[in-house]
Amino acid sequence: MIVVKVGGSAGIDYDAVCADIAVRWKTGERLILVHGGSGETNRVAEALGHPPKFVTSPSGYTSRFTDRQTLEIFEMVYCGKMNKGIVERLQRLGVNAVGLSGLDGRIFEGRHKDSVRAVENGKVKVLRGDHTGTVERVNTHLIDLLLAGGYLPVLTPPASSYDGVAINVDGDRAAAALAVALKADALLLLSNVPGLLRAYPDESSLIREIPAADVETYLEFAQDRMKKKVLGAAEAVQGGVKRVIFGDARNGQPVSAALGGQGTVVS
Ligand code: ADP
Repeated sequence: MIVVKVGGSAGIDYDAVCADIAVRWKTGERLILVHGGSGETNRVAEALGHPPKFVTSPSGYTSRFTDRQTLEIFEMVYCGKMNKGIVERLQRLGVNAVGLSGLDGRIFEGRHKDSVRAVENGKVKVLRGDHTGTVERVNTHLIDLLLAGGYLPVLTPPASSYDGVAINVDGDRAAAALAVALKADALLLLSNVPGLLRAYPDESSLIREIPAADVETYLEFAQDRMKKKVLGAAEAVQGGVKRVIFGDARNGQPVSAALGGQGTVVS
């Protein structure tokens, strides 16, 4: 089993990702696709007059502050435009894909965090009304049913809180939890960079290999949202996933290239 997470940043070639997946799926490879949608969500939120608000925690992690209106815009884009766009691409390629959010069947479950500590103008503030959380549990029953029926699951945040409330969760870490729950052979985290760069944005500074035991020490090279990918990779390998690859989804055959060892391989 291979879990492929494709991000939502500018430059990602979803046609290339879907074409590569379709070829592999038809040869009998078992895989699941998880996707993001942050770039498009930002554009739609601006257009709707509710611009995105990003907060940085005291430990340096950046996340989207998700009030109720932001959550609804997030769902429009992630579960609507992005998810159905990917499902349509796969259907056109002859793959019977089914798109679901983590809320459906409570595939992704976690605790609802209503407030977030954020650094603003050098001061730590507590912001309330946040609809976020972290995936703590993956309920695989529905996924098993889909796979057994020959359907390719295409999954996206949000997740469900333990009370059934929709929560915004990080897609990379959700994919990592899924890979652990499914005892996946590999987790691919595909984005618009060649992999983890030692001196971002210099693409010639690509880190080719990271020993699984050392992955957290590489957090120092990751800025902003890349930190979540490194954290997700650490969680996946600690949970028993043999290989995590940070790969490039901008062109070519992104899944095959990553599985072939291009990008940054954590093992
Ligand atoms: P996605 O939504 O595609 O999953 P993110 O925007 O969450 O991707 O994270 C990937 C981004 O992280 C890259 O586009 C890049 O701008 C940024 N980044 C920060 N530090 C690094 C680094 N050391 N190596 C590669 N990318 C980095």
